[in-house]
Amino acid sequence: MEILELDPLKKKSLKLILVESEFPIDWWFEAPAKERHDLVWNLHLITNEYLKLIEDLIDKHHPNFVVEEKGSRWEDTFSYDDPLRSLFRSKNITYSLIDISENAEGYLSAALENNRTLIKKLSRRIEELIKKNGRIPKEEFDFQRMLAWKQYLQQEYESQENEIRYIVREAWMMMKILNMARKVKDNKLKGAILFGENKAQAFVYKKMEEEVNEKELRELLDVNVYVCQNCRMQYDEAKTGIDFDDLPEDFKCPGCGGPKSGLKKTI
Ligand SMILES: [Zn+2]
Repeated sequence: MEILELDPLKKKSLKLILVESEFPIDWWFEAPAKERHDLVWNLHLITNEYLKLIEDLIDKHHPNFVVEEKGSRWEDTFSYDDPLRSLFRSKNITYSLIDISENAEGYLSAALENNRTLIKKLSRRIEELIKKNGRIPKEEFDFQRMLAWKQYLQQEYESQENEIRYIVREAWMMMKILNMARKVKDNKLKGAILFGENKAQAFVYKKMEEEVNEKELRELLDVNVYVCQNCRMQYDEAKTGIDFDDLPEDFKCPGCGGPKSGLKKTI
């Protein structure tokens, strides 16, 4: 457990308690071909020892909120009876899962779709060549070229995925934490984050050096704020998780009931 201090909120200070989750938390665009048979991970079974540790932490630090890295776990992994959730409820602590938003994930995934498709095509062609020859045709130029190409694409894809896995998601989570912190009417805030083991380490070291640049992140992900020209109400895609363009045409400004066309993107 480590404590991270942040000062990115006007007149508010935020202390984050970083707690390693009991289980590894994975994230990927496409689930690995091999199915996970790790029952404990899948069922998210929490041990009594871990519960006790978290309860002691709460009693010691009294956090305003607790967030947990979601990763690629299914929502229904977290049942209502989840002992951790029950614990937070009994202590009156806001708890939520955080990660990159589904929209942003979809957007980034689409950007890598071509690469993924090409890798699959090349894999199929390579398999076909092996079948046709009845062995691995190592000396064939076409075969060598395809193999090299596939390896290159694979590496590139993995490095792009890693960048999202470790950097973009983290910044996204940070943004959500800051949004939560802004809502709490208290100037000395404490929060706790439950992280997978890899993540917690990266988080501590990196955030001590640099603050999240929300503007850059929004540009990178094409997440925007729209402002009603009539009543100045803001529609923030990061908060709703829904692209403004995807809102129905009969969408009305929640502030003044004006038409969708009355909202303009802020730059
Ligand atoms: Zn309006």
